[in-house]
Amino acid sequence: MIDLRSDTVTRPTSAMREAMARAPVGDDVWGDDPSVAAFEAVVAERAGMAAALFFPSGTQSNLAALMVHCQRGDEYIAGQFSHIYRDEGGGAAVLGSIQPQPIEHDPDGSLPLERVQAAIKGADIHHASTRLLALENTFRGKVLPEAYTRRATALAHEHGLATHLDGARLFNAVVASGRSLAELCQGFDSVSLCFSKGLGAPVGSLLLGDEAFIARARRWRKTLGGGMRQAGLLAAGCHHALEHHVERLAEDHDNARRLAEGLGSVSGIEVRACDTNMVFVAFPEAHCRGLQAHLEGCGILMAVGPVTRLVTHLDVSADDIERAVAAVNDYHFSATPRGLT
Ligand SMILES: *Cc1c(COP(=O)(O)O)cnc(C)c1O
Repeated sequence: MIDLRSDTVTRPTSAMREAMARAPVGDDVWGDDPSVAAFEAVVAERAGMAAALFFPSGTQSNLAALMVHCQRGDEYIAGQFSHIYRDEGGGAAVLGSIQPQPIEHDPDGSLPLERVQAAIKGADIHHASTRLLALENTFRGKVLPEAYTRRATALAHEHGLATHLDGARLFNAVVASGRSLAELCQGFDSVSLCFSKGLGAPVGSLLLGDEAFIARARRWRKTLGGGMRQAGLLAAGCHHALEHHVERLAEDHDNARRLAEGLGSVSGIEVRACDTNMVFVAFPEAHCRGLQAHLEGCGILMAVGPVTRLVTHLDVSADDIERAVAAVNDYHFSATPRGLT
């Protein structure tokens, strides 16, 4: 199957499985796992942050960060369509008693600074206390402009807010922009990175921050059930991804461009955006079900909706892209939609 639904669907390569099998392990809740410790240290150093903490998921790492930055009755500012606000089960509210203050995005995905500033509440006891600005890079595949992050984090700090970066796909931004991981982490008090997306590890995220922040995040990780024992097996998979799968993200970006170009020449559909490893395509609504079934018959998985997100990754080759474009091309958008009664 050619799976374009997400970059989370990657399977560990045999080299990654070997690295995992070889990893020395210990009980990481006791701080005894050498593979986890080595991985945390390498990434912290590369990101220019003081310390790192290994998590089972990016959702948990974002939540632990929110719970360190914000207390009960505090609030954080985030994008209306940001993962940390919209796609994490309301965890900040459910488990942290923390209120979100969502902001509409500009078309480039950034949060307009005048809206951010207007949303920061003062000391008035009617309001929740605004404590944090949370940004996301990449956002829907788009790399945040560096000048923008600099201004946004400076604005937050001027108002006494902390800054968090959801960098689930920050390595895609690193490769696309040619900037270093440390440069893209600059201005943020905490950063969350995922290794289970395009980097191809089966499980694993890291939260980065200063020593005091990470010490507090470690407590919340335990509270949230994220303290893992011989987690070195998983960290070794992530470490392998860090060493072998970062530069190759450029292939995913090339494949996304190929896909956008290929689909751009199919009549009846509209390519809306293509950034890093994501392509957004508008298909005629009446044909969504029929197209999805047709593609499945061709061995291609897409979550087809009126605006469909297609994601390239480690397990999608340039040949696969050609096959996917050909399969969409074979579908007749002008005919009566199949599957409609
Ligand atoms: C995937 C993702 C996360 C974390 O998701 P998990 O599935 O919990 O690892 C966080 N933020 C963004 C932007 C993501 O895409």
